[in-house]
Amino acid sequence: MDDQVTFTIAVLPGDGIGPEVIAEGVSVLRAVESQLHQVRFQLQEFSVGAGEYLRNGDPLPPATLEKLKQHHAILLGAMGLPDIRWPDGVEMTPQIDIREKLDLYCGLRPIRLYHELHTPLKKYKAGEIDFLIVRESTEGLFSTRLLKHPPDANEVTDTMRITRQGSERLFRSAFEEALARRRHLTLVDKANVLPSMAFFRKVFDEAALQFPTVKTDRIYIDAASLYLVQRPETFDVLVTENMFGDILSDLAAGLVGGMGMAPSADIGDQYAVFQPSHGSAPDIAGKGMANPVATILSVQMMLEWLAHTETRRGAAIIRRVVERVLSEPKHRTRDLGGSLATAEIGDLIAQEIAEGEP
Ligand code: ATP
Repeated sequence: MDDQVTFTIAVLPGDGIGPEVIAEGVSVLRAVESQLHQVRFQLQEFSVGAGEYLRNGDPLPPATLEKLKQHHAILLGAMGLPDIRWPDGVEMTPQIDIREKLDLYCGLRPIRLYHELHTPLKKYKAGEIDFLIVRESTEGLFSTRLLKHPPDANEVTDTMRITRQGSERLFRSAFEEALARRRHLTLVDKANVLPSMAFFRKVFDEAALQFPTVKTDRIYIDAASLYLVQRPETFDVLVTENMFGDILSDLAAGLVGGMGMAPSADIGDQYAVFQPSHGSAPDIAGKGMANPVATILSVQMMLEWLAHTETRRGAAIIRRVVERVLSEPKHRTRDLGGSLATAEIGDLIAQEIAEGEP
């Protein structure tokens, strides 16, 4: 009896370092596949991003978006290039368009320290910084980002849009994440100043009543920035609106080695995209310097999300092997103060997986 399961994955390498890190993510996925029973991955590549705009005039062709929806999951590298902009000067961000069009409201950004040499904070050892940022990804302060303004405008306003429905579904996901971790959820807002954020907190307080076993805290975004640097070990899950989450994610990545160490998942009720938290990093593109670990850990998140016993086992294999490989001080890319090239660290991880665990 053949009960093999095939998962279809849309792969979007994108721009800049995107294709370089995706190559390593895919090789790790193939290595994991070799260790799994009765699970196969069928990958299909799509061109989306600034490069696609240069070729065909649209960074995210509608036909491509439709095809993405037919896959079980989407694996994305990085998109956009600073020099390639819309005529009004705004940078292309098809990765944000995808989030909005597929209603991927829940951005998961896990932050974990893999080696003490990766952090600028001297007192922390591997595993001692370990928290998750849950970022709302369809409204908040990004909600009016596509509004056009006359070039000679003397005033431009962005709107912080917080809806009850958008907040309720976000908080439900955040509480569920907290239940699966250390049962501690911190709301990050600016409820003391902004009415939209006071509303956000009110909806959070209501949601908290449904999850009595989760300890909750509420802090302002400015204090969160301070505490994340001073005492990151006190956080388990943080939940916040779109723009605050965008900023805190980069700050948090800086605590554990930078953007090359920060994976992410953008989850909706129907679709999900997995991608490193970083952008296309044109300053290092094409040089073999990019750290692919964020992408490899995004593959791990994808396997977890696919929620098959075997893909979950694959996710656990990636996690253990990444931990083991990065525990060696010499296994560092340039961003972490080492000298390994993108493919070298990727190969170390993929080979150890393919050889089977000890
Ligand atoms: P975006 O706005 O699209 O998220 P960004 O402008 O914030 O992008 P990134 O492309 O994320 O910028 O790059 C920020 C810095 O981090 C750059 O100095 C870049 O070289 C570095 N960086 C980003 N990703 C990696 C990586 N995978 N490995 C090493 N360095 C990286």
